[in-house]
Amino acid sequence: MKTIGLIGGMSWESTAHYYRIVNQQAAARLGGLHSAPMVIESVDFAPIAALQSAGDWDGAGAILAESARRLQKAGAGIIGLATNTMHIVADRIAGAIDIPFLHIAAPTSAALLADGFTTVGLLGTRFTMEMGFYRDRLVEAGLTPLIPEVDRTNLNGIIYEELCRGIVTEPSRRLYVNAIERLAARGAEAVILGCTEIGMLIDDSVSPLPVYDTTDLHARALVEAALA
Ligand code: GLU
Repeated sequence: MKTIGLIGGMSWESTAHYYRIVNQQAAARLGGLHSAPMVIESVDFAPIAALQSAGDWDGAGAILAESARRLQKAGAGIIGLATNTMHIVADRIAGAIDIPFLHIAAPTSAALLADGFTTVGLLGTRFTMEMGFYRDRLVEAGLTPLIPEVDRTNLNGIIYEELCRGIVTEPSRRLYVNAIERLAARGAEAVILGCTEIGMLIDDSVSPLPVYDTTDLHARALVEAALA
């Protein structure tokens, strides 16, 4: 099995979930005491978030490309970036290394299509919902993504003010469930949790639509790629 290189810390809350899922999947696939050989570059999220707010994608891309290079040097055979939003600079990261970079939208699209879904709701940060970098990948894969028409500012705020700080509240869960209900009314057949922290708030037991959690799908796909 190749060593998995993970660029994390955005936020560390979701990187902790990646660490658990990657190791659980490795154990499930290989049995016994197997766990996943892994190196993690966990960045300080505050300066990255400041660059996001300033729209300095070049600056953020330089930092994450450097992380990817260090992971490659440390022996990683495949790289994953543990945030949907920062896939804005996916090309920059992939271009900095000679090993494969597994885009988070790839296993997500594959899972939806395999289950027969094409019109899908997309929840995430404002960057992920509103900028083209993520939706375009879904469209290229054959999906029709829908984003919420209202409440995008609140949905975004919950990610940075609460989930990235480990705070999970019922009112925020209700806001997300309401957003999923409205996406369903507009024809969405399933919903992408397109932010690696939303799984802390929403799962199949509370969602009116089948849930596709990018954290879970990406972490499992990294193990499959490392085993291939
Ligand atoms: N982890 C989040 C995501 O998947 C948001 C934090 C960030 O801006 O990177 O988009």
